[in-house]
Amino acid sequence: MKVQFCGAAKTVTGSCFYLETGKYKVLVDCGMFQGDPELEKLNKEPFPFDPSAIDYVFLTHAHYDHCGRLPLLVKQGFKGEIISTQPTRDLTQLVLLDSAKVQEEDYRRSVGREGFEAYLHKKDSENVKVYNGQIKDSLYGDATSSDDNAEYPLFNEGDVYETMKYFRIYEYGDSVVLRDGLEFRMRDAGHILGSVTFELWIQNGDGKQRKLVFSGDLGQPGQRIIRDPDMIRDADFVFVESTYGDRIHKSKDETVLEFLTILKEAEKINGNVLIPIFAIERTQEIIYELNLFYESKLVTDIPVYLDSPMASDATEIFKRYPAFYDEDAKRLLEKGDDPFNFKGLKFVKSVDESNRISNQKKSIIMAGSGMCTGGRILNHLINNLAKQSTSIIFVGYQVRGTLGRRILDGQKSVRIRGREVESNAQLHTLGGFSAHADERDLMYWLRGFGHTPRMIFICHGDEDIATSFSDKVKTDLMIDTHVPSMFETVDLEKY
Ligand SMILES: [Zn+2]
Ligand SMILES: [Zn+2]
Repeated sequence: MKVQFCGAAKTVTGSCFYLETGKYKVLVDCGMFQGDPELEKLNKEPFPFDPSAIDYVFLTHAHYDHCGRLPLLVKQGFKGEIISTQPTRDLTQLVLLDSAKVQEEDYRRSVGREGFEAYLHKKDSENVKVYNGQIKDSLYGDATSSDDNAEYPLFNEGDVYETMKYFRIYEYGDSVVLRDGLEFRMRDAGHILGSVTFELWIQNGDGKQRKLVFSGDLGQPGQRIIRDPDMIRDADFVFVESTYGDRIHKSKDETVLEFLTILKEAEKINGNVLIPIFAIERTQEIIYELNLFYESKLVTDIPVYLDSPMASDATEIFKRYPAFYDEDAKRLLEKGDDPFNFKGLKFVKSVDESNRISNQKKSIIMAGSGMCTGGRILNHLINNLAKQSTSIIFVGYQVRGTLGRRILDGQKSVRIRGREVESNAQLHTLGGFSAHADERDLMYWLRGFGHTPRMIFICHGDEDIATSFSDKVKTDLMIDTHVPSMFETVDLEKY
């Protein structure tokens, strides 16, 4: 039995594990690389395995860095099954469709009308042609492009709908024998709605069974709306994320208080509060918190704009699955309070409306993308970043190389859509809203395994963080750890 680390190895994006069991070939996640241009190049490369030979993809959750390359997998010949929860399926469709749209818009901007018409024509005629498990080169290099740097869309909405056909839905907690020698169970990872930690029982080449656990992204306990991560009691091999393996988040109470203080201050000085949001989970958690502020009249005089059609759609999906909520959120619902709506909250649809609110004073604007790599937040930053009265609240991890990271790192001036913008705003990080477990949460979760693991693989973290976390796990738990490199293959039968 072999595992190859095809993403999220010494970095946080592109999550993808390739497993050869001897009998079967499976993937855990198939995510997009984001942020670092060197890594993003990998999105255009053929997979280091044959997609048409993959039997199953175990999809942990709907974040783009975990599901983003699924359409590429399908375009390159995948015919197996994608295993997930129902909310993950719905959210993945939303995320992939949004990505297809954004890619097309970016392409249209860079090649102009003529180039784009040629693209549309070609999309109709040959976009889904696949040759020997590899996409034809012409799909990536566009001869009609007037701009050599134009990024040809990696997939379009048709590819997304094609991908959705391969989904198979399962419930948390059920042990499922998929095939002889391949069994799995989904546990709640407590990260975003529908997120999963996979337990896989696989027969080794020697006929013995081995249990592998893939953490997926782990949530922090006590998150609003969703439940805490399930503890898992044993495993031969654990593959754990380490995004925040070097950090302790502030407590939820402290975070909520800090959030409230920022809003009160903005109310007082007529400032704008910009929150670059991740459409899924963080947005809903923040709306949930704001709902509580407004319902208890702690904040009254400052309008809240959710300026992200995608986040609005994601919120609708959240409303569809109350069975996945934790006790507190269920209780709110039972009391008749819709946790995702309150007086003062406005869902912004059109770009015109978005432009209008951008120049308003005293408002809370939540807009994507979460790391300021695109989307409506850019326009709001152009209009507000230079003002000292502006507050920017970062609520999630800012990948190296992204605009969000540059602002957060304190650059005095940043380039946004081709112009230099001074950065004078007040910067805040509310890590307590993070959908990721911190170092303490990760250690707590790993302790659940006792001394059963033969090896813990530390994945999904920047190299320095993964390495220091690996050392900590080794010392504290006295279990062997390994920080895999990109594309490294490990023979698990050696252990
Ligand atoms: Zn995630
Ligand atoms: Zn992730």
